[in-house]
Amino acid sequence: LRRPLLIEGLLRTLEDLAAIGDKRAGSEGAQRAAGYLHDRFVALELSPRIDRFHFPRHETLSSILEVELDGQSRPFSCEVLEASGAGRHKGPIKLAGRANDLSSFGNSLQGALAMVERDTLLHRSTQYQNLITAGAAAMLMASAAPGNLHQLGSIRRAWEAHGAIPALSLGARDARILREAINAGQPVHAALDVAVRIGHGVGQNVIGRIDGERPEQIVIGAHYDTWYIGSTDNGAGVAALLELAARWRPRARPPYALTFVAWDGEELALYGGYDFLRRHVIVGREPILAVLDLETPSSHGAEAYGLARSSHAAWERPVESTGAAELFVIDAPMALVPELFGGVIPTDIQGLYRAGTPVLSTAGDGPYYHTVEDTPDKVDLHRLAELVEAFDRLLLKLVQEPLLRFAGRDSGLWHAEARARFDEGTLAVEVVVRDASSRAQAGAEVTAVLFHDHFHESATRRARSNEDGRVTLRFDGVEPGAAPRFVHVTAGRTHPLVETVISLD
Ligand SMILES: [Zn+2]
Repeated sequence: LRRPLLIEGLLRTLEDLAAIGDKRAGSEGAQRAAGYLHDRFVALELSPRIDRFHFPRHETLSSILEVELDGQSRPFSCEVLEASGAGRHKGPIKLAGRANDLSSFGNSLQGALAMVERDTLLHRSTQYQNLITAGAAAMLMASAAPGNLHQLGSIRRAWEAHGAIPALSLGARDARILREAINAGQPVHAALDVAVRIGHGVGQNVIGRIDGERPEQIVIGAHYDTWYIGSTDNGAGVAALLELAARWRPRARPPYALTFVAWDGEELALYGGYDFLRRHVIVGREPILAVLDLETPSSHGAEAYGLARSSHAAWERPVESTGAAELFVIDAPMALVPELFGGVIPTDIQGLYRAGTPVLSTAGDGPYYHTVEDTPDKVDLHRLAELVEAFDRLLLKLVQEPLLRFAGRDSGLWHAEARARFDEGTLAVEVVVRDASSRAQAGAEVTAVLFHDHFHESATRRARSNEDGRVTLRFDGVEPGAAPRFVHVTAGRTHPLVETVISLD
């Protein structure tokens, strides 16, 4: 009896968010979506607040791609990927496959416009970095979406405002024309011209709360910023979030507080999740027990759905006894995700996980992912309704878990003790790196990023730890910039296995 009502509710949110259109962080659409979600949270009596943060906003001014084929030059339609570098280049188009391992390419990609295939299991930022290392002059990403649709996305690796070379998205049909000509031995040349500007962006996390018997919180989140309409990514996550919150209205106070967050800026650099980590975990020292993230949870024609969670005992009974895991083909430890995706966890909880918070996230793909066709009809509403019911049971169980089962650290994570001190105009960040069993890690790659005004990168330093797992990273002659200022320290072998955040203010 409740199922049709639930589906109606989910569809209403999807359509309301779709009517707003593109919700890229810092845009007018994102601003309107934040207002809409604030109103919905008020109606659910979640006493919402808005956390605002600042970030470098990447804007495309113009882009042209002219391809010379069969002795004729013609424009190809393209879209600039977020955080793309600017520049003008003329050169051959070369096929770089998945750009996973380019060692067999020698220096053949030097100065080329390298075309890569979109790969659901390899993040485009990793492909982009690999191409830069191989000396490519630009990246042309062949979309995997139907027809000739462009697939957007960010190629940002860390916190840089933009990357080193231009990065464009091509439709699959256009990519096929180029691939066939090149495979037939025909040289294909192209010229591109990309102009970008870095402006000032303001992001907004919308946060609501249900008080618990105890002060400790369980956080449930979903990012609302989107490329285009973004119904599967991530209108569906937001619709589920609102329905989950609504289910608590008639219920008694839960044992722990429940915090509902609509994150902003996920698509750009996971800004919303990181702002939450800084403000509520690091600065606010709020007792946050666990974070659940609803990311692209339902799409018609999805290849696979994944569930990933940190190795905390608290998840075991709620996930396994409520049927939640059965909705996912893959149920993997969170530590495996960066190994698959080239070192990153491409969703809101990356920083929270690396900082040691128990986390769980859904993930999924779909044929229209990051295209203009990602509209409400692409969401599998029956699956989404099942997911809301299963996650509601999961939450009901999770709030009954004893505090101790949330304790400890993911067994795959390291520790990075970090201290920052100002010394005659120099900021020195002293770090000690240990693995999960507290053994000092020599030769670990340690990175410290100094930020001002929330997410503006002032400078980045890298070094390797010594025999005792120690290293000091110095920021000499770096202007401190406006508050709030933070240092993020990551350490690992091939990718970050820990992230320690220090507030400097
Ligand atoms: Zn997403």
